[in-house]
Amino acid sequence: MNKPMDSKLTPMMKQYFSIKKRHPNEILFFRMGDFYEMFHEDAHVASKILNIALTSRQDNIPMCGLPYHASESYIARLLKAGHRVAICEQMETVPTSGNVVKREVVRIVTPGTVVESNLLQSDDNNFLASIVLNEKEIGLAFIDISTGDFFLSSIEKSFDVFRGEIVKYGPRELVLREGNDLSDKIFSEYIINNDIPIYRINDWFYDIEFSTETIKDTFGLASIKGFGITTEIEILAAGSILQYLKDTHKKTFDHLKSPRRFVSSDYMILDEETISNMELVQNQHDRSKNYTLFSVLDCTKTAIGRRTLERNILNPLLQQQEIEKRLDIVEFFFGRYDLISNLQKVLYQFHDTERLISRFNLGRSFPKDYITLMNSIDAAREIGGVLIEESHPLIIEMLKDLPDLSDLSKRIECTITDDPALSPERGRVIKEGCNDELDHLYKLKMDAKKWMLEYEREEKNRIQVPTLRVKYNKVLGYFIEVSKGQTSKVPDEYYRKQTLVSSERYSTEKLQKFESDILTASDRIITIENTELENLLAEVLQFRNDLQIMADIIGEIDFYCSMAQSAIENKYRRPTFNSEGISIVKEGRHPVVEKYYSNSSFVPNDIILDTSENIIVIITGPNMSGKSTYIRMTAMIQLMAQIGSFVPADEAYISLVDRIFTRIGASDNISRGESTFLVEMNETAVILNNATDKSLIIMDEIGRGTSTYDGLSIAWAVVEYLLKYVKARTLFATHYHELTRLGNKKGIVNYNVLVREHINGIDFLHKVAPGSADKSYGIHVAKLAGIPKEVSANAAIILDRMEKGSRGNNSKITEEQRSNEQLEIFNASNHHVIKAIKNINLDNITPLNALNELNRLKKLID
Ligand code: ADP
Repeated sequence: MNKPMDSKLTPMMKQYFSIKKRHPNEILFFRMGDFYEMFHEDAHVASKILNIALTSRQDNIPMCGLPYHASESYIARLLKAGHRVAICEQMETVPTSGNVVKREVVRIVTPGTVVESNLLQSDDNNFLASIVLNEKEIGLAFIDISTGDFFLSSIEKSFDVFRGEIVKYGPRELVLREGNDLSDKIFSEYIINNDIPIYRINDWFYDIEFSTETIKDTFGLASIKGFGITTEIEILAAGSILQYLKDTHKKTFDHLKSPRRFVSSDYMILDEETISNMELVQNQHDRSKNYTLFSVLDCTKTAIGRRTLERNILNPLLQQQEIEKRLDIVEFFFGRYDLISNLQKVLYQFHDTERLISRFNLGRSFPKDYITLMNSIDAAREIGGVLIEESHPLIIEMLKDLPDLSDLSKRIECTITDDPALSPERGRVIKEGCNDELDHLYKLKMDAKKWMLEYEREEKNRIQVPTLRVKYNKVLGYFIEVSKGQTSKVPDEYYRKQTLVSSERYSTEKLQKFESDILTASDRIITIENTELENLLAEVLQFRNDLQIMADIIGEIDFYCSMAQSAIENKYRRPTFNSEGISIVKEGRHPVVEKYYSNSSFVPNDIILDTSENIIVIITGPNMSGKSTYIRMTAMIQLMAQIGSFVPADEAYISLVDRIFTRIGASDNISRGESTFLVEMNETAVILNNATDKSLIIMDEIGRGTSTYDGLSIAWAVVEYLLKYVKARTLFATHYHELTRLGNKKGIVNYNVLVREHINGIDFLHKVAPGSADKSYGIHVAKLAGIPKEVSANAAIILDRMEKGSRGNNSKITEEQRSNEQLEIFNASNHHVIKAIKNINLDNITPLNALNELNRLKKLID
């Protein structure tokens, strides 16, 4: 930093530089009165991003400033531009030592640690992540400080599982150990390519003892035994993330929930491709939640309900007992549409209590937040009351921990006015009847008007000036106004305050005493109101745990109402389970396509999978016929069942799967610097290496990213490998008709999506039937897409010619010859060259002719 010589600096600028030295990575907001000022490079950077004027102090130091009360929107813009902001406040109003007031950095605002509603983008969780790696494992900690959510897990050191976790939580910022962590290039490149800001913290924080102390300290524990954190790597992840939060917030986090561990035996791992391909919570088009499974199931009315739904979608269950428990509750609500709508009317009034608690805890609340909290407590009580009447064992179980917080609600009701001001400094906050002295002072202020009129009347009579007025303005305070012509009647005890053109303004001892009483009353009112607020805050914070439990239970109720409502509206059915690896789905539908995309009505299809005859299903059919929709539908129904949802089918009798793998389309990942084909093969490798006989795999158009025969051979080999070694239930959609020849192997069946051909082209029936498609109809589809008539007509002639040319050859290919297929086809297509070579008589050719012949052959090939 270009810092002027110390000797030239004012004491305040010296103070600035000593603070700035400790915050080289942040833009320092330096509080000066009602403004935050920035200096030097910070001023240059911020003025550009915030579009505010760059000025300079007398000592030529560049500076810019912004009003403190509007700071949040400016901070939001700086965070978005990738900066961090250190907030430096004045810690006293007058200097207690030296001649500048004490200043301190009270908070560092970073993308992963925000709590302010203006800085949070939506109801979604705003996670900070900490990642720790060792030889075999990855420790992951995720905290949303705005809601108090804390998740912890240790996973195998696999890039594929790692990406899945990152996509699931979508962290806004990541904490890493300085130096070594993420030294594996693929991990770090992934984070960098996904634009997740990284903050590196000191190596010495990553010490088991230190981390254990940090965890104990944060949660007030004597020992972390029994806290659920077992592995060293989890302790380091938890310790480092908590330490970083402490450093940025400079406060303790009593509102933080105990860490919830995601154990791999309870929850299904979803990889990045599957989350993205299935468009579970984000569509692939604009990354919003529209047109996703989330949007179909989301009938929630509260922010916490929405977050619960999203979390559950991304964490399908593996234990049937847990799934059935969820399904039982969904079923209970499923039959009770009236109950759902009654509950939802009240759920609307339940605000984002998790975030409220966080704001209270971090001292960032406003008086109106208490009213919001009170309304939420009342809503929760009403919801509990409505539900308990149902006296259903599952509901009673769910409500058993719902705390009764009506006393707290009453306390708020009789403390805070119905429509409180932003702060005591700006208007009334504390209700009448709460504090006697406060009521008295307010009365004094209210009576001021009456007193002024009374005093005016007295003085008019006393000095006999009928035009005399007692008035108030902000600059002069209280005064007596007498018009110029009457000033001779003014008595000696009046003293002049101001002279105007047509009047004189005076005060008296009595008026001054009155004024001082009123001013003292105003100051005192602010003090008393602030004290009352502090007392109330302390009481609210005592109920922190109960409030969080209340929020969690309301989130669950909202989630279940939402699941039931979407099931009723979309005509879903409860799935049933078997452990034989059988999946029989009657009249299944794709939840998103049926809701948003199918022009006419969705054509339902059956699914049959098992472990003997129907392990692998190969689906052929023209483009646009519905192959992808069919295989995605299968994965969707499976996933929905495992999150405890009813499913879009008339009947679903299914087996649980340990993982769902998807390989769909040729999704280029240019940002990762990999070719389409490489990405495709990477994804395929992940599936082949990780799938088990309990997995469900859907593969769409594998092998498309390379030449036809390469692709066909790979697709073929993949299917054979899956059948022979993996035995995972697999749906394989393909445009390679050749693959249907695999259908005669035990365990593989062919399906095709039916189309009706007629004189003007084809109709898509979207019906999946046994057998393979007889042709690809690509030209018909091209015609539908608006390809010029000349092109499609010419293509039809070329296709006809090619089919006639190759038919004889194809029929000759036996199963065993298949691996040589590529070579044979290559041979056939170059038949004339081979013939020409065969025709050369090597016995009587001269060297010159041989050279000429070689030249001719070369031309033939060219
Ligand atoms: P393919 O994979 O064969 O190219 P898609 O599965 O992408 O075809 O389907 C193309 C379109 O056809 C979808 O966007 C959808 O609108 C419609 N579609 C697919 N399956 C059905 C169905 N079963 N019922 C109604 N419409 C469907």
